[in-house]
Amino acid sequence: RNVVHRICSGQVILDLSSAVKELVENCLDAGATSIEINLRDYGEDYFQVIDNGCGISPTNFKVLALKHHTSKLEDFTDLLNLTTYGFRGEALSSLCALGNLTVETRTKNEPVATLLTFDHSGLLTAEKKTARQIGTTVTVRKLFSNLPVRSKEFKRNIRKEYGKLVSLLNAYALIAKGVRFVCSNTTGKNPKSVVLNTQGRGSLKDNIITVFGMSTFTSLQPVSISISDDSRVEGFLSKPGQGTGRNLADRQYFFINGRPVDMPKVSKLVNELYKDTSSRKYPVAILDFIVPGGACDLNVTPDKRKVFFADETSVIGSLREGLNKIYSSRNA
Ligand code: ADP
Ligand code: MG
Repeated sequence: RNVVHRICSGQVILDLSSAVKELVENCLDAGATSIEINLRDYGEDYFQVIDNGCGISPTNFKVLALKHHTSKLEDFTDLLNLTTYGFRGEALSSLCALGNLTVETRTKNEPVATLLTFDHSGLLTAEKKTARQIGTTVTVRKLFSNLPVRSKEFKRNIRKEYGKLVSLLNAYALIAKGVRFVCSNTTGKNPKSVVLNTQGRGSLKDNIITVFGMSTFTSLQPVSISISDDSRVEGFLSKPGQGTGRNLADRQYFFINGRPVDMPKVSKLVNELYKDTSSRKYPVAILDFIVPGGACDLNVTPDKRKVFFADETSVIGSLREGLNKIYSSRNA
């Protein structure tokens, strides 16, 4: 049973960034306005996510990390109309199976916080009173250490994994309204290195300015492209010839209804249309696809990152048309 659990867990938590993604989404679901991510040795030793959300009620301590425990909605027939990121109750149980999990939490009804320790099967093994503000801290130590092959792979790719994580956190920092994000890493005796620090002021514009800086923001233009009767793409895109991306996917962030997703086809399209605008850099693209439920299937891969539109050809076609208008006017 344990082996089966571990194999399944391996599908929700594929790597460092999918692990932290689940934790960050839990913070957002808990209504946090401040999310701090601390890593030690790029996450190899531990990673920790601290929020100021609602906290976890003591009645949930025992079941917290059991598979399929969720305090969120049960009806997930229409994933696009979900108001929470999580709904399957798999993240904490998977993280238990793959590393050493502790949770420190306090709700507004508790005078003190509790530090919870879980074993690999998700059972609560220790409970201790501790001091903390309202909110939750989840710490995962030694991810993958009980899976030798995966562990080796993880250590070998650690810098790449870390880069992927920082980029994912940028995505949340860009799209989340009114949430402050801080991410730092500590290696050896070196001082803490802060790689992301936003104030969470509000609009997408403000977020772009804090994440990428004012000069990048002024090189962008707002876009609003209709891709079907009831769907559109909103966001910002490099003006012709003014891209600041250093490589293909650098500074390209795509969302569906505010959820970060991978969209290689869209990225390819943006790069292709922009290419002729005589810049050696790549275009910046921050695009949110606003679609009604049913137009796409968000639940294709367990990490909810790979997204498929029911009518992809027509979506890409309309987008191409809209982007063409922007980039073909370069000689005007
Ligand atoms: P899901 O998010 O799908 O419900 P998870 O395994 O990610 O499942 O989390 C299990 C439960 O633990 C959540 O439903 C929630 O009740 C609680 N939880 C986890 N992280 C937090 C957090 N940062 N703040 C408040 N509650 C949390
Ligand atoms: Mg979750």
